[in-house]
Amino acid sequence: MTNNKNYRFDTLKIRAGYNPKEHQYATSVPIYQTTSYELGDTKRAERIVGNEELGWIYTRISNPTVDVLEKRVASLDGATGALALSSGMAAITYTILNLTEKGGRILTSPYIYGGSFDGFKIIYPKFNVYFDLSQNITNPEKLEKEIKEDTKAIFVESISNPNGIIIDIENLAKIAHKNGIPLIVDNTFATPYLLNPFRYGADIVIYSVTKSLSGHGNIIAGLILENGKFPWNNGKFPQFEQKYYTLRDKSGIERNYLEVFPEIPFTGKIRMDYLNYFGSALGPFEAYLALIGIETLSERVEKQISNAKKIVEYLRKNTKYVEWINYPSLETSSYYELAQKYFPRGAGSVFTFGFRGNIEQSEKFIDSLKIFSYLANVGDAKSLVVNSPKVTHAELTPEEQKLAGLKPNLIRLSIGLEDADDLIEDLEQAFKNVF
Ligand SMILES: *Cc1c(COP(=O)(O)O)cnc(C)c1O
Repeated sequence: MTNNKNYRFDTLKIRAGYNPKEHQYATSVPIYQTTSYELGDTKRAERIVGNEELGWIYTRISNPTVDVLEKRVASLDGATGALALSSGMAAITYTILNLTEKGGRILTSPYIYGGSFDGFKIIYPKFNVYFDLSQNITNPEKLEKEIKEDTKAIFVESISNPNGIIIDIENLAKIAHKNGIPLIVDNTFATPYLLNPFRYGADIVIYSVTKSLSGHGNIIAGLILENGKFPWNNGKFPQFEQKYYTLRDKSGIERNYLEVFPEIPFTGKIRMDYLNYFGSALGPFEAYLALIGIETLSERVEKQISNAKKIVEYLRKNTKYVEWINYPSLETSSYYELAQKYFPRGAGSVFTFGFRGNIEQSEKFIDSLKIFSYLANVGDAKSLVVNSPKVTHAELTPEEQKLAGLKPNLIRLSIGLEDADDLIEDLEQAFKNVF
């Protein structure tokens, strides 16, 4: 099934991007565990290197198993192209570098993954890339004044880690486009099943495939998607207009990325420049595991949300143990309206609550849980718990934690596929063990 256009989500998640006829009729996507590909003869090698014939060369640049993963997720989000990398962080890094060659600024949200937050603050400035933490990310009307001359993009998470803050992507995209810059959405928590950011104007979508997308806590992987609509020739991004010798045509005339990859200039350039020369390629075995995980994406996310809603209900009633709860699908949440608009199926299965007690008591609570795994991950088939301020967001200073809305008594849950009643009983016995 190579022509994906008319099929619905659940068919695409099982079949898109793969045609068994092209792979010895194997029904399961084969793992192409190979570094290189025979070039055949010298004339064929010449055609492949000269971009005249599509052919595999070297697995750092592309691999048939990884290619199926890229095409499959691209079809789920209606993207023109996707690029897989060895982690979500690599996907973020290459996206930022691709946008800010020779330096620049990115306007970003304070409500993001701890690793992104800290990397933006500490590493990128060494490469003349500066991040402005927006004061108005939940208030797009006021955001425009924060865009500077050399701001190259706006970067947000559609549902933020860990607090479930929902960003009004549609309005952000309008403001970004009015100012000639793209909107990047890290859609890791949502997955393509809950939200397609392109539908609301996003230009680049990033996934940590490590999380819900693959869903079994067994790989590290990342993806960058684009929809081919952003006008990279608007003067702000000369790297896309520059001609390269490596992109020459048959007669040796140099070309630019917009000419060679009109539908996928952004990921095409990352593949040729950053993946090619900086590495961080995804291995075919990881791509295979991701594909198996994606086959059950809708079913997993549906059950995780239904479990999460039951647990939210339980916690909400237990004001004795629970001070507050952040779940955007709750009517009491300040993000309820945005959640209704962007997440009609539910705002995922990761949420936070405030433990009513001191830090020692909250640690005893975590240590008393018998089913929940205590670890730094989300979106696993297994239910997970973590004290984010001390683990996943430990890099943030106390002031930054405050800015990011991380209270010291915050506990993050990622609800899995176990029986909801067993999970509730596990929470209950752990609370009782503390008090
Ligand atoms: C985990 C995570 C990342 C980083 O992904 P890795 O695959 O762990 O490198 C980026 N963004 C979000 C929202 C995440 O949760």
